[in-house]
Amino acid sequence: MGVYNIAVIKGDGIGPDVVNEELKVLGRIGEKFGHTFNFTDVLLGGAAIDATGGPIPEETIEICKNSDSVLLGAVGGPKWDHMPGELRPERGLLGIRSALGLYANLRPAVIHKALASASPIKPEIIGDSLDILVVRELTGGIYFGEHGYRSGKYGEEAYDIENYSEFEIKRIARVAFESAMKRNKNVTSVDKSNVLESSKLWRKVVIEMSKDYPEVELNHMYVDNAAMQLVRNPKQFDVILTSNIFGDILSDEASQITGSIGMLPSASLADGAFGLYEPIHGSAPDIAGQNLANPIATILSGAMMLRYSFGLEQEAKVIEDAVEEVLNNNIRTGDIADENSVRVGTREMGQAVLDAIG
Ligand code: NAD
Repeated sequence: MGVYNIAVIKGDGIGPDVVNEELKVLGRIGEKFGHTFNFTDVLLGGAAIDATGGPIPEETIEICKNSDSVLLGAVGGPKWDHMPGELRPERGLLGIRSALGLYANLRPAVIHKALASASPIKPEIIGDSLDILVVRELTGGIYFGEHGYRSGKYGEEAYDIENYSEFEIKRIARVAFESAMKRNKNVTSVDKSNVLESSKLWRKVVIEMSKDYPEVELNHMYVDNAAMQLVRNPKQFDVILTSNIFGDILSDEASQITGSIGMLPSASLADGAFGLYEPIHGSAPDIAGQNLANPIATILSGAMMLRYSFGLEQEAKVIEDAVEEVLNNNIRTGDIADENSVRVGTREMGQAVLDAIG
């Protein structure tokens, strides 16, 4: 029985719609298992711009840093699209990730049995389910390396440097191996070590680290092959470990093969148990405030928080099983509905999950 202090960024668009359902579900888990979850609302993105003039108030960073974890809905929307770069809502997102030292991004790509037909991949390849975890390094590599312009042989040139230290590779590799130990004990490390020095170091360090995890099977794949294998035979993957830029691309590819953006959660982790948990989708301004958004990605993000930040595996599983039960009962929001579904709105979906938790 624990007491957990959680900063909550509902954000913009459908953010508040879906986070409200997540908080109800966590409240129910608290009652059932005797935990206390204290939620503190903080501002980020468009809502913060409206209230304070900037996308990432100091107070938000302070409260998040003093919390045990952070829940986020989504930020952004057309209202703020005209703002200059440093004042855009998305700047709040990058700012909070770096202020909180969130270097490991975990994105499960899961196809639930009941939704297998939503995948664009043929049923004979996908079978009736899929469960991959992409572990992406989030604060290093080419996005954070030196960028610049210089004059070259043919005139002006631009460059962006891919740079990884042994320390950065080790800490993300550890997250991947630890995650694999809780899953099917298989890590595929994706790199481009036939061409890049940074990838050669990546591979060397990952091999070193694998010695600490003799139970985990490690294999290596070049990124071009990994992109192909994800659609050719996605079931071969358990945990995919990769750098910032390769992970950016592969995690989007992996999420697309599941066919349902409203279903996928994510975690961004710092050292220790601290993490920020959010759905992979955006603020969907087209359906905001209309009781249309699918809250499942966000509810499952709450389950990831219980597992990764608080070590509450059983409680996380109760939420995941409840979602599975709701899907098996054919209860669906519009984005995942077909002609046989019982169509519900955001709040009714949240209630259905609560009912399934019991
Ligand atoms: P989006 O993910 O918001 O929406 C894409 C499409 O998917 C839309 O048709 C939307 O209605 C639908 N959709 C998304 N989530 C859904 C859900 N839970 N249930 C049902 N349908 C859902 O992407 P976009 O339209 O490219 O971006 C909209 C805004 O969100 C932009 O301002 C963008 O910058 C921002 N954004 C924020 C984040 C974030 O906060 N992490 C991520 C991506 C985009």
